[in-house]
Amino acid sequence: MSSPKPRTFLQKVTSCLTLRNIRFLYLMPGFTRKVSRCPVCGAKPDKVEYQTRYTPLDHCGNCGHVYSRKTPGKRILHLMYEDLDYWKRDKEHQGITKIEYGPQWNGFIEARMGSAQRAGLINGSPKKFFEIGCSEGILLRALQDRGHEALGCEMNKPTAEAGMKALGVTIKTDLFEDLKLPDAYYDVVMSFHTIEHIPDLDRVFAKIAKILKPAGAVFVEVPTGPEEYPNPDHVQFFTDESLKRLLERYFEVGEIYPNHYTNLHGTVIGSLYGAGRRPKRSAN
Ligand SMILES: [Zn+2]
Repeated sequence: MSSPKPRTFLQKVTSCLTLRNIRFLYLMPGFTRKVSRCPVCGAKPDKVEYQTRYTPLDHCGNCGHVYSRKTPGKRILHLMYEDLDYWKRDKEHQGITKIEYGPQWNGFIEARMGSAQRAGLINGSPKKFFEIGCSEGILLRALQDRGHEALGCEMNKPTAEAGMKALGVTIKTDLFEDLKLPDAYYDVVMSFHTIEHIPDLDRVFAKIAKILKPAGAVFVEVPTGPEEYPNPDHVQFFTDESLKRLLERYFEVGEIYPNHYTNLHGTVIGSLYGAGRRPKRSAN
């Protein structure tokens, strides 16, 4: 992540007064929600794992999950993801500079399509895909080019609009939780590097299970490892165990594909892929 632009004292005061300062909003009542139990397994935290500039991160001794004690409400979420700069910062280090279909995306698309293929989610037959947090929509475009139906959502409006214009894809700009989507319609719901930003995992996973066909599958990628802790945009920090447990609450089969390694200092770095299959139907 690039460092934020330095701001003058007056700019800081103005951003507090106009409720545009995220650090200030984290201190005010009503803009965040307090999380007192593990969002994956419901156990009480056993220790503070890390202190970010906004909130302590609590550790669950039961499943190993680490999570923000304070999670952002809509006002803060919109401030975090409201401009195209977010997209630029995110893609810059991957060598991607333009929202335009071209060779600079090849590696990016192949990594995601390849992992989904290895998990058995993409084969010859055309399927219906939904992507949560699809950013500019390049993966939707790649899926469509391979004969699939693909729709996505992205709360960063400028990024979604630029992607729709440049790539000819359809992207919804509401939060996934708030979208109206048909029940039991999709073959695969995908999400790459997005669910670690989501405060309410329950609402999101219950909805994923609801919109999937009975034989459908969810496929997610999340970052893993302690070097993620300082990233203030993340509110969930998964371990192999906590991602598996989350999937198994909503799906009959949960599989984890670790994509991580331990460096010379013993730090775990990388990401986790998780797949859940055959959604369990909730009673209501
Ligand atoms: Zn837990």
